[in-house]
Amino acid sequence: MRTKIIAGNWKMNTLFQEGVTLANNVLENTGAVASGTSLIFGVPFTHLKSIAEISAKHANVSVAAQNCYFETKGAFTGEVSAAMLKSAGCSHVILGHSERRQYFNESEAIIYKKVLATLYEKLKVIYCCGEPLEIREKNKHKEYVSEQLQGSILKLSEKQINNIVIAYEPIWAIGTGKTATTEEAQEMHAHIRSAIKAKFGATVAADISILYGGSVKSSNAKELFAQPDVDGGLVGGASLNAVEFAAIVNSI
Ligand code: PEP
Repeated sequence: MRTKIIAGNWKMNTLFQEGVTLANNVLENTGAVASGTSLIFGVPFTHLKSIAEISAKHANVSVAAQNCYFETKGAFTGEVSAAMLKSAGCSHVILGHSERRQYFNESEAIIYKKVLATLYEKLKVIYCCGEPLEIREKNKHKEYVSEQLQGSILKLSEKQINNIVIAYEPIWAIGTGKTATTEEAQEMHAHIRSAIKAKFGATVAADISILYGGSVKSSNAKELFAQPDVDGGLVGGASLNAVEFAAIVNSI
């Protein structure tokens, strides 16, 4: 069955104590998270263990890291492995975020290696894809996202794909205050689901969760999440405000 998911991506924000307070305040404002729905805090590495402990006290609440390295261990100064994330209580890893692609030169090949390393540890992946503005303006967004998928998650096995959550995040909508219209979001989500169906079949496609990301707010969340192929959101800026984020969680 398809899970509805609201995931917050805190990016490089909040000092440790601020993060703990933020997670507690969100949970106070959301109440119980219904079964079939999942609330995920995507937090900085330094916060993972503590926020995983807070989350573990609540049903259907868990924690994601925002990156990991593809090697299992060794002389890779500054890197963090999927096994380390698992040992800190993490359930998901966000991979392929456009900020990682843009600022840290992560190619699809690197992202694929990270996907494999994360799945190997039996963690789930929130795999981000999405086109820049110039591609959208040339009306090539479907081809662009198809190519991203082909370079990574469409290479997985059926067993592996069941542990992937997809986040469609048009880059022109991330942190810009500019949201895709419900029609634009639905069109791309249906396109992505059809690519999953073509490779893995109807059941896998029906079960995979596809989140929308890009300036989701409490004022537009309900309409976006009402689209048949939009199964929730990956929320950046608005996830840093407990009341606003809880309102988004409550609108799923
Ligand atoms: C994101 O960082 O994944 C994101 C969608 O950010 P924002 O909600 O701020 O656009």
